[in-house]
Amino acid sequence: AITLSGVSKSFGATQVIKTLSLEVQPGEVLVLIGASGSGKSTVLRMMSGLETVDDGEIWVNNVPLHDRKRSSEICGHVGMVFQQFNLFPHKTTLGNVTLALIKARKMSPSAANQRAMAALERVGLADRANHYPSQLSGGQQQRVAIARALAVEPKIMFFDEATSALDPELVGEVTEVMRGLARDGMTMVVVTHEMGFARKTADRVVFMDQGVVAEQGTPEQLFVNPQNPRTQQFLSRVL
Ligand code: ATP
Ligand code: MG
Repeated sequence: AITLSGVSKSFGATQVIKTLSLEVQPGEVLVLIGASGSGKSTVLRMMSGLETVDDGEIWVNNVPLHDRKRSSEICGHVGMVFQQFNLFPHKTTLGNVTLALIKARKMSPSAANQRAMAALERVGLADRANHYPSQLSGGQQQRVAIARALAVEPKIMFFDEATSALDPELVGEVTEVMRGLARDGMTMVVVTHEMGFARKTADRVVFMDQGVVAEQGTPEQLFVNPQNPRTQQFLSRVL
């Protein structure tokens, strides 16, 4: 589970997250939407330990991320997928997925390969294990990036606009993989512009506006019957 209570964050003089409180239950799929600059990525980065918190508490699987002495305990609990795949071009699919297992987790190459193949199986790319990134489509490269995150066997997955860099016809294969993880009970926090994904897959949708949660609810509540004028305005632009 994830609990943020009264979390604030500033960059320089600008407070970009303002006493934000939010909970994510185990197995829940939470989708974060909101205008550019509303703080979605910052929230995700704080939840994954990539960004420190100025104020308030943030607990992720019982690790207090606001406590700098303990925040590194989150390693291995969470996986993160970004808009940019950041695969190593000179490494094969398998090499990209095993890298962290061998270097950071100190797994033996054979154990790492086994884990990596299981992860590649899950994203439907076991037959591309020996291809290089340049030999893969953008959608396949992003699925490799998802497999790389899954290989550490995280309890929670974070996705930050994972389909935004893809050609439209490649978006579906990636959202399909994400949907599969959701069905398997993975706890997920997803920042996306794919409102179709949010409608179909989210358990709860959170609309962020200027560093606060302006409104949240089921996809039905938020998309069909938004209460906050800011939500209505945002949805009228993106739907
Ligand atoms: P987008 O939809 O464009 O990705 P977002 O909702 O993810 O936007 P954030 O990236 O969280 O927004 O940024 C929130 C605010 O914080 C923005 O005003 C941004 O310029 C600022 N910001 C984010 N990261 C930094 C940083 N490292 N240094 C300074 N300002 C930052
Ligand atoms: Mg962002």
